[in-house]
Amino acid sequence: MDMLGFIERKRDGGVHQGEEIVRFVKAFASGEVPDYQAAAWLMAVYFNGLSGEELRDFTLALARSGETLSFGDDLFLVDKHSTGGVGDKITLLLVPLAAACGLSVAKLSGPGLGFTGGTVDKLEAIPGFRTHLPSEEFLRQVKNVGCAISGHSADLAPAEGKFYSLRDVTATVPSLPLICSSIVSKKIAGGADAFVFDVKCGSGAFMEDYGSAERLAEALVSLSKSLGKKAMALITDMDQPLGEWVGNAVEVLEAVRVLRGGGPADVREVAVSLSGAMVSLGKGVSFEDGCALAAEKLDDGSALAKMKVLVEAQGGDGRVCEDPETVLSIAPEKAFVKAKSGGRLARIDARAVGEGVKRLGGGRMTLGEPIDLSVGALMLVKTGADVSAGDALLEIRSSCQDKLKASLPFFEKAFFVEKTTLDSPRKGEEMKRSFVLGTIR
Ligand code: URA
Repeated sequence: MDMLGFIERKRDGGVHQGEEIVRFVKAFASGEVPDYQAAAWLMAVYFNGLSGEELRDFTLALARSGETLSFGDDLFLVDKHSTGGVGDKITLLLVPLAAACGLSVAKLSGPGLGFTGGTVDKLEAIPGFRTHLPSEEFLRQVKNVGCAISGHSADLAPAEGKFYSLRDVTATVPSLPLICSSIVSKKIAGGADAFVFDVKCGSGAFMEDYGSAERLAEALVSLSKSLGKKAMALITDMDQPLGEWVGNAVEVLEAVRVLRGGGPADVREVAVSLSGAMVSLGKGVSFEDGCALAAEKLDDGSALAKMKVLVEAQGGDGRVCEDPETVLSIAPEKAFVKAKSGGRLARIDARAVGEGVKRLGGGRMTLGEPIDLSVGALMLVKTGADVSAGDALLEIRSSCQDKLKASLPFFEKAFFVEKTTLDSPRKGEEMKRSFVLGTIR
């Protein structure tokens, strides 16, 4: 193909034909187009964007670049995608919860990326759990059990993976059309009929301010709808880690606690709201009715029962649903981060907490590195709490002194305590009523 002309057109603000885009994606995937030319085109898109039609054509070309899953016409599948955050264990409880509401959920998940953890890594902490199911088994389990969670096969939208790696090293990740095509192409290849997007917003998210999170949420919903899918997005708070625990085994522990009726309020609210959105799309009811059904299925134990069926169907130890503390291996060695001065906890830098857990061994520093599933960090206080000098803010569970040492600077810089006057209102009460900040339909 005439790559020079193709790059020039986008550089000069022109518009591509659909068949040109398909040819380009194929040629890049096969190696016929070199990285430097694809990178030049990505940068042209970064500055000049893609039209609605170009975006649809590019997304479909990425989705069709490898294997695509199909569940037949008799199942209506609803999928959820999170843009990634720290302590985000929602998938672990949302999949059985949505299935307990009567939906078919085929969840394809990835490993951790950057400072955020990945569902596949967390599930590895359940003894025996098989995180990568062959496509036929994945499809069979969704039909028989109502839900399955599996790691992405490398054959799913492979051209997207190649573009993503190139974007990562050419400063072209933060482009709205490139982010949307990347996310939606993988969802389309995964075969679902409806998508719910959890767009995280705040210091621990890709989108740090509400305006950018809203623009991304609207763009994801509009692209999905233009491709014939039902879609909805929730913008949820990531200004501090979600819940109390950050790590792998410890996040499974927290997810089970919520399924058992306890656990932190923010995890419960976000899981119920996202499941409610899935029910709304899957059953054609209002968002509010969807949330009410999700709350009912969480409270009556149906979601916990479904989690046990899901875990056992994938070879895992189902006792994790009854006695997670015994079944999960959690590093026993404890260390603490303490407040240097008294005042109000104004902010917790979620990204710094994520980086700390990564350095403890809970995430990867190099490609493919094995991770320590047992380590983690427990938020002993959350934003808005009043603390005194010397109070413990964070409990660290580690299994290696050197890694603990490497992680401490990140944990220590994560907490911002401000002096307050006695009669000023508590910040937590002022700022937060709901952890769902917006809904885009
Ligand atoms: N997540 C993705 O899958 N792709 C992007 O481009 C950004 C976040």
